[in-house]
Formats: sequence, structure tokens, C-alpha cells
Amino acid sequence: MEIELCAVSGYTQVTRNMSAIRVDDEVIIIDMGMDIGMMALHETEEGNGKLLSTEQLISIGAVPDDKKIEDWKSKVKAIVLGHCHLDHIAAVRYLASKYKCPIIGTPYTIEVLKATLRDDEIRLPNRFIKIDPDSKMKLSENIILEFVTVTHSTLQCSIVVLHTEIGDIVYGNDFKFDANPVLGKTTNFLRLKEIGNSGKVIALIVESMYAHRPGHTPDELKAKDMLIDTIVNEADKEKAIFVTMFSSHIARIKSAIEAGEKIKRKVMVLGRSMAKYIRAGENAGLIKFSKSIEIGEYGSQRKRLLKELNESREKFLVVCTGGQGEPGSILDKIVNKQLPFIFKEGDLVIFSCSVIPQPINRANRERLEKILDVNRVKIYRDIHSSGHASAEDLRDIIKLLKPKHLIPSQGESFQLDALVKISEEEGYKLNKNVHLLKDGERLILN
Ligand SMILES: [Zn+2]
Repeated sequence: MEIELCAVSGYTQVTRNMSAIRVDDEVIIIDMGMDIGMMALHETEEGNGKLLSTEQLISIGAVPDDKKIEDWKSKVKAIVLGHCHLDHIAAVRYLASKYKCPIIGTPYTIEVLKATLRDDEIRLPNRFIKIDPDSKMKLSENIILEFVTVTHSTLQCSIVVLHTEIGDIVYGNDFKFDANPVLGKTTNFLRLKEIGNSGKVIALIVESMYAHRPGHTPDELKAKDMLIDTIVNEADKEKAIFVTMFSSHIARIKSAIEAGEKIKRKVMVLGRSMAKYIRAGENAGLIKFSKSIEIGEYGSQRKRLLKELNESREKFLVVCTGGQGEPGSILDKIVNKQLPFIFKEGDLVIFSCSVIPQPINRANRERLEKILDVNRVKIYRDIHSSGHASAEDLRDIIKLLKPKHLIPSQGESFQLDALVKISEEEGYKLNKNVHLLKDGERLILN
């Protein structure tokens, strides 16, 4: 049996993830993501849908270049999605129909994917298969898929394991180890330990985004406490309070709802994408938010709610899109006077997120903050805990799984090098059993 990895995309940048693993003459694709900074080229808050062709999106680097596995095309048995973030699933709409195989994910991931496709009226010929977190599925005579629950920054995230008779391939994009995730299950350490102790892990493909950050990534509970403290301390009758976060961060939305309860304000969620992730969570039976909050998903609903907010600032806590300053988001539209709300001096905008480290996001966010500043809005930044592993989390996963080969992914050279350094401290050696692959490169793993 021969196992080969093709690092299709996302191995030299934090973006656009796609990997393909060949086990003899069968291939499993893991993730099909887009470049988030370039998402505006493909959809806006209003859902204008497809603006460029797939070929154009590939050529500008928005979508993975799957021609790198053209010769494997007929061998693909499954497209497996580890979690629902757009840099892991958003290219499904462009690429999946080329492969005659099912798309497999946890119930939440599949709900989000289906909602996204439905919004833009895209129909794919592929079958969708939901498998529960912490369960297995036989993909073929030679390959068993397993999802192992891991904490990250959205619901039902999994470490993907492909079991074969000669050993296991483990895909750890994205994760952090969080003992207090606020919502959802914590990491299934017991199972990861078992897999590691079996001594059968041939390779671990793992993110390196925050490998340069020392220590462990703080728990989500810490972000929740910071958020609630900030809101409770700042709340007074005169102020409008806006909190913005990644739309898919359902645990953080839950924390904002709790903060709203504490200051006796009803949470108003504004933004099409945020509404979509909440509904997906409700469809998957994981949350029940919509009874206690107001949701402004479309134009008329949003306008009505914002008019109400203008008149009674003290009644609401707004949770909305715009944390990256992205054009078309709710905050962007408000400051550009495309929505009927006017910020006043002393109003509050809390950025409960980090800026995704890409130039386009930095520029968008800077532009948004400048206008908020002109309006004398008080800004809080980084009321946040990342969903990505820091140096010691990465050391822990290497120690837990004891892989024969380590393949760092999702990083530029300083991030990849930081993970190489950690692995060398754990006894690995670059180009012997640690491999830095460029997008499109292949590596035989046994
Ligand atoms: Zn993610």
C-alpha cells in the first residue's frame, strides 16, 4: 500500500485550505476552502453570488487550484470537511461537482454548507453525508474515516483521521485545546491519546498559524468574561452598544446574549451571514437562540430594527457583522449611511475578534475605525480569544499523536518555521520527518 499527500492549497499561507490523500488508487480530499480576504469577489452581504468564473477565481488565488490533482480526479472517493469555516468549505460550490463522490461533514458543517448553497441557488450533484462528531465511517475497503471532536471557534469541529491497514493520516486544521469552550463538547483527548498510543500515525498535517505565539491559547471562557465585563461596565442608558465577532462564532454570540441579559437589553443580531450560522445551529439541534433574540437578516427587517434602536438605544445590545471592516457588512453600511442608524458620541463598538492577518483586512478595518473615530464612538479591540493553537498546544498535539511525519500547514514562512522549531525540540528533523510543502507539491508518506 502506498500513501501520498498532495498539498493542494493552504500550505504556505493561512487561507484557502485543500488537501488530497491518495491511498493506492483511491483519493480522499480534505477541505475545499476559499481565501477569506477575497470572498468579496464572490459574495457580498446581500448575496450577489457568483461574480467571477471558477477559472478566474483560481487564477487570482481565491479558490484552490485543483488542477494539481487532475490525474487523481477519477480516483476521488470523498470530500471530507473538518469544520464549517469558509477557508475550509467555501470553494465546495466551485469545485465539488467535478468529483463524483459524496461530501461528508458533521451535521453543523453540512447545515452551514447547505444554507450557503441554498442562498445562492447552487445545486450540486454530490450527495451530502452527515456523520456525528466522534464517529467513524467506512469510505472504502481500505479507508475508514473518523471524526474526533476538537475545540476551535465554531461548532462541531473535528480532527479528521483516515485509518488504513498500514497506519493513520491525521488532519488537524483547525484547532485549539480549550478546557472551557462555553458551548459544545471539549476535545476528545481520550481518543486522541488512543490513536497516538497505537503507534500507527503515519502523518499529522497541522496548522502553524500561531506556532510563533508562546504558551497555550486562552480558553473561550476568558473571552466570555472579558466581553461580559466590558459590556456591564460600559452600559448606561444613553449608549448604543455594538459587538462584532466572526459570524460563525456561535459560542461568542451566546456570551453576548448572556451579557445582554445582565444589562437587561435584548440582543439584536444583524447580518445575513450571522443569521445563517445561527439557523444552521438551530437546525442541527445545537442551540436555541432565536426565541430570545431579534434577528435582522434581510433589508426590511434590519431597517426596522435599526430605526427602533435609534429611538431606544437602552433597549438593545447589537451583535453584528463587520469585525474585519469588510465592505457590505452591517458596521460598514452603518458608517457609510446605507442603513438608518446614526452613531453618537459615546456609543460603543466592541470588536470581539482579531483582524485576520491579511493586508486587505487590515486596510478595511482601519478605514472603518477611522470613521467611527470621527463620530467619537468608543472602541474596544481584541475582546477575544483565538480559536487557533499556540506553541504549547502544538507541542501537545505532537506528543499526543506521535506522528512518524509532521507536515506543517496554514502558515507563511515565519509561522511554519516556528512549528519546525517546536518539532525539532521534540526530536523531529526538517526534511527527514518534518516536511514543508509548497502548494501543489506531493509527498509519499510511507
Ligand atoms: Zn477554522
